[in-house]
Amino acid sequence: EEEKRKYVKGKKLGEGTYANVYLGFLRNDTSQLVAIKKIKVQKEYTEGMAPDAVREIKHLQELSHPNIITLHSVFSSKDQNLNLVLEYLPLGDLEMLIRDTDRVRYGAADIKAWMGMLTRAVWFCHENFVLHRDIKPNNLLIAADGEVKLADFGLARSFSDPYKPMTSNVITRWYRPPELLFGAKHYSGAVDVWSVGLVFAELVIRTPYIAGNTEMHQINLICQAIGTPTEENWPGVTKLPEYTVEKEVVPIRGRDHYMAMFGTVGYEGVDLLMKTLILDPKKRVTARDMLKHEWWHKDPKPTRKQDLPKKS
Ligand code: ADP
Repeated sequence: EEEKRKYVKGKKLGEGTYANVYLGFLRNDTSQLVAIKKIKVQKEYTEGMAPDAVREIKHLQELSHPNIITLHSVFSSKDQNLNLVLEYLPLGDLEMLIRDTDRVRYGAADIKAWMGMLTRAVWFCHENFVLHRDIKPNNLLIAADGEVKLADFGLARSFSDPYKPMTSNVITRWYRPPELLFGAKHYSGAVDVWSVGLVFAELVIRTPYIAGNTEMHQINLICQAIGTPTEENWPGVTKLPEYTVEKEVVPIRGRDHYMAMFGTVGYEGVDLLMKTLILDPKKRVTARDMLKHEWWHKDPKPTRKQDLPKKS
């Protein structure tokens, strides 16, 4: 109630799958802009849910990192809707830059800078025992100084799953790792690393790398793009609840395949990409080890954040 009174809600900025986003400002200092994200809670879940969710999200407020969106405050309104007061980032997201091939040019140095920011954000989350679970270009917002900020953080875990989507927008499966598609109940930071790998691939080819229309289609496309998960390359995979692959086993793609497709980031860049897209989550590189990779020190150096391409 006190938190709610600190902010004034302004015009609607946009609508997402689970939320409406409004411009807001501090009642005491109207030059201080924020984004107020009002999460719609389905009626049958409202009873007692919002307070739980508030408690859950509160610890995210302590996650302070230059590449993670700042959560200023959380409050639930009288209708039990959950309101997140977030850093206002009006320059769009990485998806807008990737898609605007007519106007936005970028190269290997820019990709290295963006990937560095994303990897540090994910490393920081994992160091603090939080999984993001919904990393995709559209959740990477761009600050005025060029910094990329991981957003929609923790929402996937804390609130999204128990609620139905507000609109019929299908939640994208394109960044979902094979262990989740096979119904694994126990998973790790490796789920986020897979998504980071797919963002990396997409930054290079400027189109989603593995874009399935259904979960089954997504699994089939992973088999074709990466290789079929089997007991040989991933011990235990066939025991996962929803393990199903086509009879025709596709061998794991070799380095030459990745070089032909993603060679613009160099041998070392391709090596890092391949390590993020290892099928077995136990063998997949960790965010911590990603940061130790040689690619970051090879030429070209990452672009300085102030020199990165922006929305025109
Ligand atoms: P989605 O992730 O489905 O696009 P969101 O609920 O995250 O939906 O956001 C909906 C829209 O609100 C975004 O497309 C964007 O235009 C705007 N928006 C979200 N967060 C912010 C923010 N922190 N600052 C400025 N605009 C935002």
